[in-house]
Amino acid sequence: MASNKRNLNPLDLYDIRDELSEEECMVQDSVARFVDDQVLPVIQEAFENHHFPKELISGVAELGLLGSSIDGYDCAGLNGISYGLICQELERGDSGLRSFVSVQSSLVMFPIHAYGSEEQKQRWLPAMARGEAIGCFGLTEPHGGSDPVNMKTLAKRDGDDWILNGAKMWITNGNLADVALVWAMTDEGVRGFLVETDTPGFTAQEIENKFSLRASVTSALFLDNVRVPNENVLPGVTGLKGPLSCLTQARYGISWGVIGAAQACLNEVLEYSKDRVLFGRPIANTQTVQIRMADMARRITTAQLLSLRLGRMKDAGTMTPTQVSVAKWNNCRMAIDIARDARDILGGAGISAEYVPVRHMLNLESVITYEGTETVHQLVVGKELTGVNAF
Ligand SMILES: Cc1cc2nc3c(=O)[nH]c(=O)nc-3n(C[C@H](O)[C@H](O)[C@H](O)COP(=O)(O)OP(=O)(O)OC[C@H]3O[C@@H](n4cnc5c(N)ncnc54)[C@H](O)[C@@H]3O)c2cc1C
Repeated sequence: MASNKRNLNPLDLYDIRDELSEEECMVQDSVARFVDDQVLPVIQEAFENHHFPKELISGVAELGLLGSSIDGYDCAGLNGISYGLICQELERGDSGLRSFVSVQSSLVMFPIHAYGSEEQKQRWLPAMARGEAIGCFGLTEPHGGSDPVNMKTLAKRDGDDWILNGAKMWITNGNLADVALVWAMTDEGVRGFLVETDTPGFTAQEIENKFSLRASVTSALFLDNVRVPNENVLPGVTGLKGPLSCLTQARYGISWGVIGAAQACLNEVLEYSKDRVLFGRPIANTQTVQIRMADMARRITTAQLLSLRLGRMKDAGTMTPTQVSVAKWNNCRMAIDIARDARDILGGAGISAEYVPVRHMLNLESVITYEGTETVHQLVVGKELTGVNAF
């Protein structure tokens, strides 16, 4: 009979670790070490100064975290659970670093691998896995990201080339990128264009005044008669299913990533509440603070189980976009609620960057918005339940 005396890990109450293979545990441990040793010492300063810590890219690449799910092309060929664990550990550090890896892996390397020509794969994937080439993904436009059908960026044929005109908004890695995967409307429907960022007519302008994801580069992209050769078009996909399939990959990773942010916040308040003495006792010894922290642990546990099951379905090839929407919605809501409540348990100290919750809280405002807002995911689930499109 199982003993009920052992101490549970407050950040893993249901012992998710016990569900992981040896390889998955190794991946988690190596990324956790990297985050503890390399990320946590620099991330607060990077966030405060609004800059992406580029010096971390080589370490991320050496660990095989870029395009980790791709088999071949110098990529690690890890499974979906491992990708989730990578996102979780990175986001325990900061959502900005996890966003960098998500965009590179799920939004640029994945579509090149899934829909690209052999030349495109050879050209980009090994360099991107080594972190020597950086990608960004341009889908959102200034007039409204939730409605990509209404795409105004246009690509017109001109002999063997295409001419692109339009603008993209809120593009992660935009000013870091060597290649921008720009989705544009053509006479045949939406196509993906690999635009090298030194092409005349292409400009990226960094968005400087963010209160969220400050340790991440976010940009507006402008395309003014940008000439792209036909061999830079992704040949394997036409229509919105191209970008949407990339979003499914990235949203899956986000469902894991935000668990890491929530764990960091719970960890902080568990420590703080032991030492903060008010009314003659540590606040950890009060019922309401215990209830709030118990609720955090409960919500983290349910999110972990959701992502684990989702990951097993991904690896079995049965995961659907609606199931991803449930997890992205639930887990982002879980994480942002925990970060806000953790900020409050810290009292005035909670607004200081010395403590992690306020940084995670601010970051999660972006994470709950990008890759489909909460409302968008709710409407995806509503459509699945009713068969009626209410967008
Ligand atoms: C930091 C950051 C990084 C990003 N990185 C990228 C990137 O790398 N690449 C990329 O392409 N995009 C990126 N995005 C864009 C992101 O995906 C969009 O911001 C998001 O999809 C929402 O689009 P929007 O901002 O235009 O809001 P809108 O679409 O204008 O939505 C405004 C509000 O309307 C609500 N709404 C929308 N439709 C409905 C409806 N039918 N019924 C009820 N309410 C509705 C939304 O939920 C939201 O609350 C990023 C955004 C941020 C903040």
